[in-house]
Amino acid sequence: MLEISNLNAGYGTVQVLNDVSIKVPDRSVVTLLGANGAGKSTTLNTIAGLIKAWSGTIAYRGDECAGVPAHSLVRRGVALVAEQRELFLNMSVMENLMLGAFTRDDKAEIRESLEQVFEMFPRLAERRSQNTRTLSGGEQQMLAIGRALMSRPSLLLLDEPSLGIAPILVQEIFAQVRKINERGVAVLVVEQNAAIAMDVASYGYVMENGRISIEGPIETLRADPRIQEAYLGDGGH
Ligand code: ATP
Repeated sequence: MLEISNLNAGYGTVQVLNDVSIKVPDRSVVTLLGANGAGKSTTLNTIAGLIKAWSGTIAYRGDECAGVPAHSLVRRGVALVAEQRELFLNMSVMENLMLGAFTRDDKAEIRESLEQVFEMFPRLAERRSQNTRTLSGGEQQMLAIGRALMSRPSLLLLDEPSLGIAPILVQEIFAQVRKINERGVAVLVVEQNAAIAMDVASYGYVMENGRISIEGPIETLRADPRIQEAYLGDGGH
């Protein structure tokens, strides 16, 4: 379980997150919804150790994570796929994937993870020697997810996987997110595309101006008129 309690954080002296509390049970998919600028990326980046928490606690499987550097969190099983994807564009697909395994030295198991990623995203297998710069946005997103999986995480933090991607690839990516979860990986997914995120998640939070304004099981959120109006449009269809 990832348990964030009363988290406050921001940039310089500007506070962005206000008393944010979120739980992600092991093996679950939880979504964090909200408009542009609500503070969703700030939340994920704080969990991942890229932004310092001002106060509050972030515990993963009982161990405090606030203040722990990002690379140490990867060793603890927490992997972030950032909104900007942070790929090395001049390197090949294969090189980027192997960088994701930096915490591991078990060659046979790394090979196995690689096969799993290629099975999940056959386009990456086809393009393994290709320069990353030449991939489409959707393929780059697949690569960013694949690279995170190479660290063999137990918790995947996904920041807007649908951003700037053709709808058909968004479907493909979310189908794989479901499969990743079926293999036992917990997922916290930030999305502006509420409809697609709610299709895979079992619990959701809505963030407004750096605060959690609504939370609940997905079915409850789906039935909530505030969510239908602000995030699903047209009653969810
Ligand atoms: P988006 O979907 O647009 O990424 P978001 O919900 O993820 O939105 P954040 O990116 O977390 O929102 O931004 C929350 C607030 O923090 C915004 O007001 C934004 O301008 C501010 N902010 C984000 N990154 C920085 C930064 N590096 N320095 C200063 N302010 C920032």
